[in-house]
Amino acid sequence: MHRRQLLIAGGSLFALTACASTGSAAGGGGQSLAAEAAEARAVLPKQTPRAELLQEWTGPFGGVPPWDRVTAPKLRAALLEGIELQRAEIAAIADNPAPPTFANTSVALQMAGEPLDRAGALFGVMTQNIGSDDYQAVDTELSPLLSAAGDEITFNEKLFQRVKHVADHADEMGLNAQQKRIVERSRDGFVRNGAALNAAGKAELGRINTALSNAFTSFGQKVVADENAWTLITDEARLNGLPADNKAAAAAAARRRNLTGWAILNTRSSVDPFLSYADDRALREQVWRKFVNRGDNGDANDTNAVIAEIVRLRDQRAKLLGFRNHAEWRMQDTMAKTPAAAMSLMNRVWAPAKARVAEEVADMRAIAGHDIEPWDYLYYAEKVRKAKYDLDQNELKPYFELNNVRAGSFYMAERLYGFTFEKLAAGTVPVFHPDVTVYEVKDHGRPVGLYYTDDYARPGKRSGAWMTTYRSHTSYDGDKNVLASNNNNFIKAEDRPILISLDDAQTLFHEFGHALHAFSSKVVYPALGGSQRDFVEYPSQVHEHWVLTRPIIEGFLKHVETGRPMPQALVDKIEAADTFNQGYATVSYLSSALVDMDLHTQGSPPTDIDKFERDSLARLGMPKEIVMRHRLPQFNHLFTSDSYSAGYYSYLWSEVMDADTWAYFKDSGDVFNPDIAARYKEIILSEGNSSDRADAYRRFRGRDPDVAALLRVRGFPTS
Ligand SMILES: [Zn+2]
Repeated sequence: MHRRQLLIAGGSLFALTACASTGSAAGGGGQSLAAEAAEARAVLPKQTPRAELLQEWTGPFGGVPPWDRVTAPKLRAALLEGIELQRAEIAAIADNPAPPTFANTSVALQMAGEPLDRAGALFGVMTQNIGSDDYQAVDTELSPLLSAAGDEITFNEKLFQRVKHVADHADEMGLNAQQKRIVERSRDGFVRNGAALNAAGKAELGRINTALSNAFTSFGQKVVADENAWTLITDEARLNGLPADNKAAAAAAARRRNLTGWAILNTRSSVDPFLSYADDRALREQVWRKFVNRGDNGDANDTNAVIAEIVRLRDQRAKLLGFRNHAEWRMQDTMAKTPAAAMSLMNRVWAPAKARVAEEVADMRAIAGHDIEPWDYLYYAEKVRKAKYDLDQNELKPYFELNNVRAGSFYMAERLYGFTFEKLAAGTVPVFHPDVTVYEVKDHGRPVGLYYTDDYARPGKRSGAWMTTYRSHTSYDGDKNVLASNNNNFIKAEDRPILISLDDAQTLFHEFGHALHAFSSKVVYPALGGSQRDFVEYPSQVHEHWVLTRPIIEGFLKHVETGRPMPQALVDKIEAADTFNQGYATVSYLSSALVDMDLHTQGSPPTDIDKFERDSLARLGMPKEIVMRHRLPQFNHLFTSDSYSAGYYSYLWSEVMDADTWAYFKDSGDVFNPDIAARYKEIILSEGNSSDRADAYRRFRGRDPDVAALLRVRGFPTS
């Protein structure tokens, strides 16, 4: 199984305004939710937003985002006014003469900023999925203002004292377990973000956060610019070896750019197939170099100086807040809790992964007759796969037609959890691009929301795959349904079926797993809706395992031309090759995670980023045949926001739980075991962050997760 190293989005706004939506505290026990909400609502000033994009969402399905009316100037106006409205609400909560209670402080704080949240959902999509110059300009202007607005809430002394009071007196106030969890997490979050600093410290921290916000935006825009490039091939012979559908996609990419020939775009979904199949070694090297040097060409898009500034600012912030380094600060609210715990897990996997790479390289050398360079690895891996397992990935492709794969994912969701998905006719609800498809989602027949899919790569759109929610479930102020989206970067081929790889199919199931997590939510309060970074990839990764289960292979993965299911002999070959090339997959991922942690635990931050990367890899003994999956100059996870910084290990941390969970299903003799699925949905998916997640895992599984399951999934020795 390939592990995916993908983002769950969320948008920078939510990270920046986290205090407003994940905050806070106070209260009286025993109140009904309705009474509590009414008390909170009464604290907030009555305000009527003027900006069109701050208005409540109208239309069917509990109101939907007005994508058809979004423009960059309207979005800018909405964000600016939304910040003002939120400021007035925060002032009313902080200046309330009544003694702090859970309702008048914590609930009110969760309610504050609703119009801004709506505009923020639009903002996140327009910058990430569309990314045209006008939205990039709004991003550049507004991101630092949104960051400052978040700091203003954290640094509000009167507000912090009210939050702290409720948290410190939670028992006397008779708060229930969830309320207590909210107020304690809120208080700790305020402190972690600088609420307890003196005035000079707060001013300094505010300057750092604004500078970071500017640097994040700059980094992201530079990387997108370097991905909006291509290698043009005019001699067809140089495409020898490339499968027909990749060739057709390259021709279409050239046509769209008014070029003659074939364009290999500088994104992973174009580059990886080329590196896997193109016979022309010199051209593979050229395409590979262009891709791995994104952000590292010494030109206007070079990110090294931005990264140096980001790590310097992060280090200053950590020290200002009393931590030794960014990682220690950043990991406070994680399952792993400390860099040492994350490193311990990574180190347990690193040595067997490197040993496996040595074996893989030996197999490849035997076929190639020469040393294996990084641009040879995927190519000769395919040759070995063919020789060892008689398995040609291209033989698989006709079975992975995009619509069929998606239908298989829907089947999984229905059989495991009772979810159904019905496609809405185009025009039923607005969409932000004609490529977007919308489905109504029901849970055992009960409507729970809408699922938006945006499947195809296009210029300006961020690379990779991610999930985001436009609205999450909560019930503290009336029941809200869920609007969730999955975003992929498949290559659109005109007038022919879209065939994806097994790896892409697993990505699709991965992002769909994030969406199922959102659709399963029974969370009451928004403050408990999110998950810790190193837990959140568990519900997504575990669902990758269902792609190659018998009911999905037999029912959905049908040959695109003949309509016949995959022959048993081919299924057997796939299963036999299940852990093939795991050395490569593990080392390319894990080296990125280890360098991330190394960078963010330095006593003093490096200034020469390229040199740091080289030295760090040398310390790890990085195999020379492999490059990091994300080199630092293009590592969006680390440098477009704080969210995955000192957190790229999270995929591995989550994988310990996902591998152990998959073993639980398999060992039961039924990978769709209804009892295990029901408990998984109830305990793991529906609770959000309403209780401690390590405890939740023990409730689900009856014990802690076993790391050996992860080693077995990857085919490494467990001793
Ligand atoms: Zn994910």
